Amino acid sequence: MIAENLREIQESLRAGVTLVAVSKTKPNEDLVEAYEAGQRHFGENRVQEMVDKQASLPQDIQWHMIGHVQDNKIKYMAPFVHLVHGIDKEKRLKTLNKEAAKVDRTIDYLLQVHIAEEDTKFGFSPEELMETVQKDLQILYPHTRLRGLMGMATFTDNQEQIRREFQSLKNLFDKVKVDLGKDFDILSMGMSGDYQIAMEEGSNMVRVGSSIFGARG
Ligand SMILES: *Cc1c(COP(=O)(O)O)cnc(C)c1O
Repeated sequence: MIAENLREIQESLRAGVTLVAVSKTKPNEDLVEAYEAGQRHFGENRVQEMVDKQASLPQDIQWHMIGHVQDNKIKYMAPFVHLVHGIDKEKRLKTLNKEAAKVDRTIDYLLQVHIAEEDTKFGFSPEELMETVQKDLQILYPHTRLRGLMGMATFTDNQEQIRREFQSLKNLFDKVKVDLGKDFDILSMGMSGDYQIAMEEGSNMVRVGSSIFGARG
């Protein structure tokens, strides 16, 4: 079932799009099934759960932290996390840099941008984003590397609204990329319900959970 879902989704991806299988709340055997079908990128939204899974699953899995993380949890994932999607404050970046330095790593991250209408979602406003990327983040936080942007569209049936929100994130991405160049190359947008639209609007990393693993309880 999981292997079949994965194959279908892989076949529907545009060239160059990375699939992050969002396995939050799912048991290890589900992740193993996806792993055996060839999946290597997994996304979790809780640090403790990701740490537990990382310890008992194959070591070549690339772990994505897609959730909102608290500063005091960052140290637990610093030794292994592959990409942190949800950096939503510069203060968080400071902590990420400090913990990465302790384990002698450079950790890749995305800045989360608030593109949805709902105000429940975390992230920089477009103005704050542009202000933040004007700073010399590489010098301020040398144990981190800004790789791109992440965003979530409003939870709505209105496809045109979703498309507009993804377009606004893509426009910001292009604008920032002019200054940051080739290492700034990841645009993480799109989930089970909207990843097709996200890809049409330029996403190159989609985070898909329920379409692979089934609904979460
Ligand atoms: C849960 C989650 C997803 C996956 O959602 P599905 O609708 O199950 O595909 C993607 N991104 C983030 C940030 C999430 O929290």
